[in-house]
Amino acid sequence: MGDKTLLITGASRGIGRAAALMAAKEGWRVAVNYARDEAAAAEVVAAITREGGAAMALKGDVADESELVAVFEGAAKLGPLGGVVVNAGIVAPTARLTEMSGERMKRVFDVNVFGSYLTAREAARRLSTRLGGPGGSIVVVSSAAARLGSPNLYVDYAGAKAALDTLVKGLSIELGDEGVRVNGVRPGLIDTDIHASGGEPTRAFTLGASAPMRRPGRPEEVAAGIVWLLSEAASYVTGALLDVSGGR
Ligand code: NAP
Repeated sequence: MGDKTLLITGASRGIGRAAALMAAKEGWRVAVNYARDEAAAAEVVAAITREGGAAMALKGDVADESELVAVFEGAAKLGPLGGVVVNAGIVAPTARLTEMSGERMKRVFDVNVFGSYLTAREAARRLSTRLGGPGGSIVVVSSAAARLGSPNLYVDYAGAKAALDTLVKGLSIELGDEGVRVNGVRPGLIDTDIHASGGEPTRAFTLGASAPMRRPGRPEEVAAGIVWLLSEAASYVTGALLDVSGGR
Protein backbone atom coordinates (compact mmCIF):
# COMPACT_ATOMS: atom_id res chain seq x y z
CA MET A 1 0.00 0.00 0.00
CA GLY A 2 1.30 3.46 -0.89
CA ASP A 3 1.77 6.14 1.74
CA LYS A 4 0.19 9.04 -0.15
CA THR A 5 -3.21 10.27 0.90
CA LEU A 6 -5.81 11.38 -1.62
CA LEU A 7 -8.68 13.56 -0.40
CA ILE A 8 -11.83 13.43 -2.53
CA THR A 9 -14.66 15.81 -1.72
CA GLY A 10 -18.13 14.32 -2.22
CA ALA A 11 -16.84 10.76 -2.33
CA SER A 12 -19.80 9.00 -0.71
CA ARG A 13 -21.70 8.61 -3.98
CA GLY A 14 -21.45 8.85 -7.76
CA ILE A 15 -18.26 9.97 -9.48
CA GLY A 16 -16.41 10.69 -6.22
CA ARG A 17 -17.19 7.21 -4.91
CA ALA A 18 -15.99 5.57 -8.13
CA ALA A 19 -12.79 7.62 -8.02
CA ALA A 20 -12.22 6.62 -4.38
CA LEU A 21 -12.54 2.91 -5.13
CA MET A 22 -10.32 3.13 -8.23
CA ALA A 23 -7.65 5.30 -6.57
CA ALA A 24 -7.46 2.87 -3.63
CA LYS A 25 -6.74 0.05 -6.08
CA GLU A 26 -3.88 2.22 -7.45
CA GLY A 27 -2.40 2.44 -3.94
CA TRP A 28 -3.74 5.76 -2.68
CA ARG A 29 -4.93 6.03 0.92
CA VAL A 30 -8.30 7.69 0.50
CA ALA A 31 -10.01 10.35 2.61
CA VAL A 32 -13.70 10.13 1.74
CA ASN A 33 -15.45 13.46 2.34
CA TYR A 34 -19.24 13.68 2.36
CA ALA A 35 -21.92 16.15 3.43
CA ARG A 36 -24.86 14.14 4.79
CA ASP A 37 -24.94 10.49 3.72
CA GLU A 38 -22.86 8.91 6.48
CA ALA A 39 -23.94 5.36 5.63
CA ALA A 40 -22.88 5.74 1.99
CA ALA A 41 -19.49 7.14 3.02
CA ALA A 42 -19.02 4.27 5.51
CA GLU A 43 -19.81 1.80 2.72
CA VAL A 44 -17.06 3.30 0.51
CA VAL A 45 -14.56 3.07 3.37
CA ALA A 46 -15.60 -0.53 4.09
CA ALA A 47 -15.24 -1.50 0.42
CA ILE A 48 -11.71 -0.09 0.34
CA THR A 49 -10.56 -1.65 3.59
CA ARG A 50 -12.05 -5.02 2.60
CA GLU A 51 -9.66 -5.00 -0.36
CA GLY A 52 -6.69 -4.24 1.92
CA GLY A 53 -6.65 -0.48 1.29
CA ALA A 54 -6.73 2.41 3.76
CA ALA A 55 -9.55 4.92 3.95
CA MET A 56 -11.50 7.10 6.33
CA ALA A 57 -14.77 9.03 6.10
CA LEU A 58 -14.79 12.75 6.89
CA LYS A 59 -18.02 14.71 7.20
CA GLY A 60 -17.98 18.36 6.17
CA ASP A 61 -19.71 20.86 3.92
CA VAL A 62 -17.17 22.16 1.36
CA ALA A 63 -18.88 25.55 1.39
CA ASP A 64 -18.21 25.93 5.14
CA GLU A 65 -14.64 27.11 5.53
CA SER A 66 -14.01 25.80 9.05
CA GLU A 67 -15.60 22.44 8.29
CA LEU A 68 -13.50 22.11 5.15
CA VAL A 69 -10.25 22.95 6.95
CA ALA A 70 -11.16 20.32 9.57
CA VAL A 71 -11.64 17.79 6.76
CA PHE A 72 -8.11 18.49 5.48
CA GLU A 73 -6.73 18.20 9.01
CA GLY A 74 -8.55 14.89 9.47
CA ALA A 75 -7.25 13.56 6.15
CA ALA A 76 -3.66 14.20 7.24
CA LYS A 77 -4.13 11.49 9.89
CA LEU A 78 -4.20 8.91 7.08
CA GLY A 79 -0.74 9.93 5.87
CA PRO A 80 0.92 12.77 3.95
CA LEU A 81 -1.35 14.42 1.41
CA GLY A 82 -0.37 13.83 -2.22
CA GLY A 83 -3.52 14.57 -4.17
CA VAL A 84 -6.93 16.21 -3.97
CA VAL A 85 -10.01 15.70 -6.13
CA VAL A 86 -12.25 18.77 -6.03
CA ASN A 87 -15.44 16.88 -6.78
CA ALA A 88 -18.34 17.84 -4.49
CA GLY A 89 -21.04 19.58 -6.50
CA ILE A 90 -24.80 20.09 -6.64
CA VAL A 91 -27.56 21.02 -9.03
CA ALA A 92 -30.93 22.51 -8.11
CA PRO A 93 -34.24 21.61 -9.80
CA THR A 94 -34.26 22.38 -13.52
CA ALA A 95 -35.60 25.85 -14.33
CA ARG A 96 -35.10 28.85 -16.57
CA LEU A 97 -33.09 31.74 -15.16
CA THR A 98 -36.27 33.85 -14.85
CA GLU A 99 -37.66 31.24 -12.43
CA MET A 100 -34.61 30.90 -10.17
CA SER A 101 -34.68 32.37 -6.68
CA GLY A 102 -31.67 34.27 -5.42
CA GLU A 103 -31.37 31.84 -2.54
CA ARG A 104 -31.10 28.87 -4.91
CA MET A 105 -28.46 30.57 -7.05
CA LYS A 106 -26.46 31.55 -3.95
CA ARG A 107 -26.33 27.93 -2.77
CA VAL A 108 -25.39 26.63 -6.23
CA PHE A 109 -22.50 29.13 -6.42
CA ASP A 110 -21.61 28.57 -2.77
CA VAL A 111 -21.07 24.82 -3.08
CA ASN A 112 -19.84 24.61 -6.67
CA VAL A 113 -17.65 27.72 -6.88
CA PHE A 114 -16.79 28.88 -3.36
CA GLY A 115 -16.50 25.31 -2.01
CA SER A 116 -14.29 24.28 -4.93
CA TYR A 117 -12.05 27.34 -4.68
CA LEU A 118 -11.68 26.77 -0.92
CA THR A 119 -10.83 23.11 -1.51
CA ALA A 120 -8.26 24.02 -4.18
CA ARG A 121 -6.78 26.66 -1.88
CA GLU A 122 -6.40 24.25 1.02
CA ALA A 123 -4.88 21.69 -1.36
CA ALA A 124 -2.39 24.23 -2.76
CA ARG A 125 -1.41 25.41 0.73
CA ARG A 126 -0.51 21.87 1.71
CA LEU A 127 1.03 20.60 -1.54
CA SER A 128 3.03 23.53 -2.95
CA THR A 129 6.79 23.03 -2.61
CA ARG A 130 7.10 26.83 -2.26
CA LEU A 131 5.18 26.51 1.01
CA GLY A 132 7.19 23.49 2.16
CA GLY A 133 4.79 20.86 0.82
CA PRO A 134 5.70 17.69 -1.05
CA GLY A 135 4.11 18.59 -4.42
CA GLY A 136 1.20 16.60 -5.79
CA SER A 137 -1.76 16.69 -8.07
CA ILE A 138 -5.15 18.40 -8.00
CA VAL A 139 -8.06 17.33 -10.21
CA VAL A 140 -11.11 19.57 -10.44
CA VAL A 141 -14.42 18.04 -11.53
CA SER A 142 -16.06 20.56 -13.83
CA SER A 143 -18.77 19.65 -16.35
CA ALA A 144 -19.56 19.67 -20.06
CA ALA A 145 -22.21 22.17 -18.90
CA ALA A 146 -19.40 24.76 -18.75
CA ARG A 147 -19.20 24.53 -22.55
CA LEU A 148 -22.90 24.00 -23.25
CA GLY A 149 -24.49 26.56 -20.90
CA SER A 150 -27.37 24.23 -19.88
CA PRO A 151 -30.19 26.44 -21.17
CA ASN A 152 -33.64 25.75 -19.64
CA LEU A 153 -32.01 23.38 -17.15
CA TYR A 154 -29.54 25.16 -14.88
CA VAL A 155 -27.56 28.06 -16.28
CA ASP A 156 -26.44 28.81 -12.70
CA TYR A 157 -24.72 25.43 -12.42
CA ALA A 158 -23.17 25.77 -15.92
CA GLY A 159 -21.69 29.15 -15.05
CA ALA A 160 -20.37 27.81 -11.76
CA LYS A 161 -18.59 25.01 -13.63
CA ALA A 162 -17.15 27.49 -16.16
CA ALA A 163 -15.55 29.24 -13.18
CA LEU A 164 -13.84 25.94 -12.34
CA ASP A 165 -12.35 25.68 -15.84
CA THR A 166 -10.87 29.13 -15.24
CA LEU A 167 -9.60 28.02 -11.84
CA VAL A 168 -7.76 25.13 -13.49
CA LYS A 169 -6.17 27.53 -15.97
CA GLY A 170 -4.98 30.07 -13.42
CA LEU A 171 -4.00 27.76 -10.59
CA SER A 172 -2.07 25.41 -12.88
CA ILE A 173 0.12 28.35 -13.87
CA GLU A 174 0.49 29.61 -10.29
CA LEU A 175 1.67 26.17 -9.20
CA GLY A 176 3.48 25.22 -12.42
CA ASP A 177 6.96 25.28 -10.89
CA GLU A 178 5.84 24.38 -7.37
CA GLY A 179 5.48 20.64 -7.91
CA VAL A 180 1.69 20.66 -8.23
CA ARG A 181 -0.19 19.77 -11.41
CA VAL A 182 -3.76 21.08 -11.70
CA ASN A 183 -6.17 19.57 -14.22
CA GLY A 184 -9.91 19.31 -14.78
CA VAL A 185 -12.31 16.69 -16.06
CA ARG A 186 -15.56 17.67 -17.73
CA PRO A 187 -18.04 14.79 -17.47
CA GLY A 188 -21.03 14.69 -19.78
CA LEU A 189 -24.23 12.87 -18.78
CA ILE A 190 -23.18 10.33 -16.18
CA ASP A 191 -25.53 7.91 -14.48
CA THR A 192 -25.51 9.11 -10.84
CA ASP A 193 -27.97 10.40 -8.22
CA ILE A 194 -27.32 14.03 -9.20
CA HIS A 195 -30.08 13.97 -11.84
CA ALA A 196 -32.68 13.02 -9.22
CA SER A 197 -31.69 16.11 -7.25
CA GLY A 198 -32.40 18.16 -10.41
CA GLY A 199 -35.88 16.59 -10.43
CA GLU A 200 -35.16 14.25 -13.37
CA PRO A 201 -33.86 10.87 -12.21
CA THR A 202 -33.87 9.42 -15.74
CA ARG A 203 -32.18 12.45 -17.35
CA ALA A 204 -28.83 10.72 -17.90
CA PHE A 205 -30.56 8.01 -19.92
CA THR A 206 -33.01 10.15 -21.89
CA LEU A 207 -30.47 12.83 -22.86
CA GLY A 208 -27.55 10.37 -22.94
CA ALA A 209 -29.25 8.70 -25.90
CA SER A 210 -28.74 11.91 -27.91
CA ALA A 211 -24.97 12.02 -27.25
CA PRO A 212 -22.79 10.88 -30.16
CA MET A 213 -22.11 7.61 -28.30
CA ARG A 214 -25.89 7.18 -27.73
CA ARG A 215 -25.61 6.37 -24.05
CA PRO A 216 -24.83 8.00 -20.70
CA GLY A 217 -21.45 7.47 -19.10
CA ARG A 218 -20.70 5.42 -16.00
CA PRO A 219 -19.05 6.96 -12.93
CA GLU A 220 -16.13 4.56 -13.42
CA GLU A 221 -15.47 6.02 -16.86
CA VAL A 222 -14.97 9.45 -15.30
CA ALA A 223 -12.98 7.99 -12.40
CA ALA A 224 -10.50 6.47 -14.87
CA GLY A 225 -9.70 9.94 -16.21
CA ILE A 226 -9.37 11.37 -12.71
CA VAL A 227 -7.06 8.61 -11.52
CA TRP A 228 -4.91 8.94 -14.65
CA LEU A 229 -4.55 12.70 -14.18
CA LEU A 230 -3.52 12.09 -10.56
CA SER A 231 -0.91 9.54 -11.54
CA GLU A 232 2.71 9.81 -12.64
CA ALA A 233 1.59 8.67 -16.08
CA ALA A 234 0.29 12.23 -16.50
CA SER A 235 3.51 13.80 -15.19
CA TYR A 236 3.72 16.44 -17.97
CA VAL A 237 -0.01 17.23 -18.01
CA THR A 238 -1.13 20.40 -16.25
CA GLY A 239 -3.79 23.01 -17.01
CA ALA A 240 -5.65 20.44 -19.12
CA LEU A 241 -9.40 19.88 -19.30
CA LEU A 242 -10.34 16.32 -20.17
CA ASP A 243 -13.82 15.88 -21.67
CA VAL A 244 -15.36 12.56 -20.59
CA SER A 245 -18.65 13.11 -22.33
CA GLY A 246 -19.16 10.52 -25.06
CA GLY A 247 -18.45 13.15 -27.72
CA ARG A 248 -21.12 15.55 -26.45
P1 NAP B 1 -23.93 12.82 -6.73
O1 NAP B 1 -24.10 11.41 -7.16
O2 NAP B 1 -25.12 13.66 -6.44
O3 NAP B 1 -22.92 12.85 -5.49
C1 NAP B 1 -22.57 14.08 -4.94
C2 NAP B 1 -21.54 13.89 -3.87
O4 NAP B 1 -21.15 15.19 -3.37
C3 NAP B 1 -22.06 13.13 -2.68
O5 NAP B 1 -20.99 12.37 -2.17
C4 NAP B 1 -22.47 14.23 -1.71
O6 NAP B 1 -22.40 13.86 -0.35
C5 NAP B 1 -21.40 15.25 -1.99
N1 NAP B 1 -21.77 16.62 -1.63
C6 NAP B 1 -22.85 17.33 -2.04
N2 NAP B 1 -22.82 18.56 -1.51
C7 NAP B 1 -21.71 18.62 -0.73
C8 NAP B 1 -21.14 19.61 0.10
N3 NAP B 1 -21.71 20.82 0.24
N4 NAP B 1 -19.99 19.32 0.76
C9 NAP B 1 -19.41 18.09 0.63
N5 NAP B 1 -19.90 17.11 -0.13
C10 NAP B 1 -21.04 17.38 -0.81
O7 NAP B 1 -23.11 13.66 -7.84
P2 NAP B 1 -22.16 13.17 -9.04
O8 NAP B 1 -23.01 13.05 -10.24
O9 NAP B 1 -21.28 12.07 -8.61
O10 NAP B 1 -21.31 14.52 -9.22
C11 NAP B 1 -19.98 14.63 -8.78
C12 NAP B 1 -19.36 15.83 -9.49
O11 NAP B 1 -19.41 15.61 -10.90
C13 NAP B 1 -20.10 17.14 -9.24
O12 NAP B 1 -19.17 18.20 -9.14
C14 NAP B 1 -20.95 17.29 -10.49
O13 NAP B 1 -21.27 18.64 -10.75
C15 NAP B 1 -20.02 16.71 -11.53
N6 NAP B 1 -20.71 16.29 -12.76
C16 NAP B 1 -21.64 15.29 -12.75
C17 NAP B 1 -22.27 14.93 -13.93
C18 NAP B 1 -23.30 13.85 -14.02
O14 NAP B 1 -23.96 13.70 -15.07
N7 NAP B 1 -23.50 13.05 -12.98
C19 NAP B 1 -21.94 15.59 -15.11
C20 NAP B 1 -20.99 16.61 -15.08
C21 NAP B 1 -20.38 16.93 -13.90
P3 NAP B 1 -23.69 13.22 0.44
O15 NAP B 1 -23.73 11.79 -0.01
O16 NAP B 1 -23.37 13.32 1.86
O17 NAP B 1 -24.88 14.01 0.00
